[in-house]
Amino acid sequence: MNIASSRPAIRTTCAYCGVGCGVLATPDGAGGLTIAGDPEHPANFGRLCVKGAALGETVGTKGRLLAPRIQDREATWDQALDLVAQRFSETIAAHGPDSVGFYVSGQMLTEDYYVANKLMKGFIGSANIDTNSRLCMASSVAGHRRAFGTDTVPGLYEDLELADAVILTGSNLAWCHPVLYQRLAAAKAARPEMRIVVIDPRRTATCDIADLHLPLAPGSDAVLFNWLLSLSPLSPFCAEHVSGLDEAMAAAGQVDVRETGLDFGLLRQFLAIWQQTDKVVTVYSQGINQSDSGSDKVNAILNCHLATGRIGRPGMGPFSVTGQPNAMGGREVGGLANMLACHLELENPTHRAAVRDFWAAPGMAERPGLKAVDMFRAVEDGRIKALWIICTNPAVLMPEADRVARAIAGCDFVVVSDMFATTDTARLAHVLLPATGWGEKDGTVTNSERRISRQRRLLPPAGQARDDWRILADVAVRMGWPDAFGWQGPAEVFGEYAALSGVAGDLGSDFDISAHAGIDAAGYEALQPFLWPQSARRQGGRFFGAGRFHTPDGKARMLAVQPRLPEPAPDALPFRLNTGRIRDQWHTMTRTGLAPRLSRHLAEPFLEIHPEDAVRLGLAPATLAEVENPAGRAILRVLVTDRVRPGHPFAPMHWTGETGPSGRVDALVPGLTDPVSGQPALKSAAVAIRPFAAR
Ligand code: SF4
Repeated sequence: MNIASSRPAIRTTCAYCGVGCGVLATPDGAGGLTIAGDPEHPANFGRLCVKGAALGETVGTKGRLLAPRIQDREATWDQALDLVAQRFSETIAAHGPDSVGFYVSGQMLTEDYYVANKLMKGFIGSANIDTNSRLCMASSVAGHRRAFGTDTVPGLYEDLELADAVILTGSNLAWCHPVLYQRLAAAKAARPEMRIVVIDPRRTATCDIADLHLPLAPGSDAVLFNWLLSLSPLSPFCAEHVSGLDEAMAAAGQVDVRETGLDFGLLRQFLAIWQQTDKVVTVYSQGINQSDSGSDKVNAILNCHLATGRIGRPGMGPFSVTGQPNAMGGREVGGLANMLACHLELENPTHRAAVRDFWAAPGMAERPGLKAVDMFRAVEDGRIKALWIICTNPAVLMPEADRVARAIAGCDFVVVSDMFATTDTARLAHVLLPATGWGEKDGTVTNSERRISRQRRLLPPAGQARDDWRILADVAVRMGWPDAFGWQGPAEVFGEYAALSGVAGDLGSDFDISAHAGIDAAGYEALQPFLWPQSARRQGGRFFGAGRFHTPDGKARMLAVQPRLPEPAPDALPFRLNTGRIRDQWHTMTRTGLAPRLSRHLAEPFLEIHPEDAVRLGLAPATLAEVENPAGRAILRVLVTDRVRPGHPFAPMHWTGETGPSGRVDALVPGLTDPVSGQPALKSAAVAIRPFAAR
């Protein structure tokens, strides 16, 4: 008899990307799991990509941090929590609330995120809490807020299937959101007349299903979309529900589309698809967001949809897809340093007062805190003296990663909550707190289409690991706030958050899940995936199709976008390195690295480089290249390919360099950020490249 098959499968959600696939996980009774796609989950209908399918190979205690550590010596939980509370309290008392910071993660569950925000913004009294989601989608948040008045994704995944044309720009959906890509590919197979356009300097795997690939000059996206806007058919929707058309059109009319470097034949085909197709979805992701003008690029895309009225109706709309499993939950819960929970605004006194009253908060933050790059600058120069890093690895993934690692190493007091003690960041901690990971904890996540799903506990915690929300609450209690942080379980945290969303809804917020206010443990356990909002006022669905936006006049705003092209590369650093992800790995591979089959796809850090560049530099295929600039250095395996443009090589960002070639590519990325969103320009690093010679 197959013991595993006799156990009931537990419904949960994948640990990785923002598609948010439903998973059926069956514990085998010996600490392992059998994994299958959940056929009833509306994100994936049973599909899984290779990362999701390998989740069962990544659980267990191998390599795990099993007990708290203080200065590398094992400690009890009480000792560790007492020390964290004491050092944070002393630092705040001596230097003020802004002398401490939390750097958190889009992989935390919503309940964890909520508690971290409540502690920092409501009780410590600073907004110095920011998230690694700043690195993946902050420009979309800023673009949405400028255009719609709120950070709201208008559409649904099914819009990609219902569209007659799908434009993918700055999105390698095939590798970064594989199940959504599978859904799109299936729709295209069923309706071959559907047009798919990929706009990307690289010829990525997503081009396999494209009718048209526009290999534009890196950074020229806003030029292309301004040009498209200048030739767009205007809609009655725009006349009635949108402001700023004339200014946006005037700016759009000034661009020179030749700056995209695109062939006019390709441009004409693209224009014909745009002009002749009503149902168009534009999907965009990191290739748009990770730029020092990312917010403007987002608004250039939104302008085109607003002008043509293609928004919030079946098969049409702009669609930002998020990288991490709970990047959206972090946006909703106020995980960014400039936001409050439930889409309320930190800088709005009415919103601040409502949240303060709801929390009975003694020290509400009154101004935005430091965004990710600025937070580590403040760590570097000593303005932040106590830092708590949760569920992320900034010593590898931040721009100027070597500088960030040095800053963390020099900080007076660093706490790291993680599953592993071996990450580059965990090694720098004074206090290490063992956290439960996927499969060991209960909570919720929100995917890219605003669907909230449960992650469920499948296995016991590894060693003494505890949930992040509980660790944060235990520290808050020790800092003197027992009443506000006295939850008994994540259901109570979620129930409080849902009740706060009702307050937000009363203030006009679109994020309202107050149907779940005060949910009990049984209701929480039974919670099915649902689209927000979910309240007495409104149930799920698309936004903005009826033309009501969250701006003072109720109209969407088109912005006059002035495209900014990247500065020419300096002579000493003549290459522009593009960074990104590969199909089978996740972030710094702390989890995916545990599944050997995920390394079969691409086993080591590499540099995709154009044949012309390779010949000029004397780089033979499969040799090693040294990639360097004043900020850092990486040693990468040479992969010669015409998928990239001359002068614009590509390298993935997953490897840390502990073994084999050093893959610390984010060490090469400058700390340049978008002035509106604070998102770093991770897609463009000026570098020199040469054959590697051991020194
Ligand atoms: Fe997980 Fe994303 Fe793959 Fe779905 S597409 S199984 S959410 S990694």
